[in-house]
Amino acid sequence: MSIKEKSTNFASALYLVATPIGNLDDISVRSLKLLRVADVIFCEDTRNTGQLLKLYGIAAPRLVSCHEHNEQSQVDVIIQEVNLGKIVVYVSDAGTPAISDPGGRIVQGAIQAGIDVVSVPGATAFVTALVASGLNCNEFAFLGFPPQKKGRKNFLLHAKSLGITVVLYESPYRIITLIEEIIELWGIEIELCVARELTKLHEEYLRGKAGEILQQIRAKSSVKGEFVVIIGVLSKDK
Ligand code: SAM
Repeated sequence: MSIKEKSTNFASALYLVATPIGNLDDISVRSLKLLRVADVIFCEDTRNTGQLLKLYGIAAPRLVSCHEHNEQSQVDVIIQEVNLGKIVVYVSDAGTPAISDPGGRIVQGAIQAGIDVVSVPGATAFVTALVASGLNCNEFAFLGFPPQKKGRKNFLLHAKSLGITVVLYESPYRIITLIEEIIELWGIEIELCVARELTKLHEEYLRGKAGEILQQIRAKSSVKGEFVVIIGVLSKDK
């Protein structure tokens, strides 16, 4: 069946659909079908999702804004739509919903209401980076963004205490500070992978000891883009 055809295979449910983290080709056939047949798409930003649908040549169905500030109040609206027999999709701006993004509260509310929740897999920045990091992917902890100020030191101490690979998200504004903090806690010899702009034109992986990576990042004229940081395990914890 062509992906342009409308599929009748989708039952009424809440579908969590992952969208690309950069490269527009990184979306599944099933996700495109769902975006095409959805009765309503709840999304973090209607302009971004509208633009994405346009790029895929999908005529926008009803788009409803559902972001971190109104997520809780939209739960009941979503439940109502599914109870009316609609195909309801939730997408965040990029990647997988509920991974450092809105979506988690909607899922909890839907499960409590006895609604079917279907997760349609796709891109996630941390998995993309982890599998190419060269660090141990068999046992790892994804901890998302470190707190910006309060609790940051304790967060990193907790991360270190786990004794397994740790995967973090960080903004370009704090990436150098984060590597300095990692060196302070884990030491300059700790193995790191800093993945930047994954799936995009300027995709880059810096792999090696934290001290070397800090030097490489400091040597750049500017630090731009989106980052995933993967921290290896100290020799004594291996
Ligand atoms: N839901 C998304 C996912 O599934 O990965 C994550 C959303 S979170 C708000 C955005 C953060 O994810 C960025 O600040 C960055 O740390 C990471 N990220 C997203 N896209 C990325 C990319 N293309 N390259 C590197 N990191 C990325």
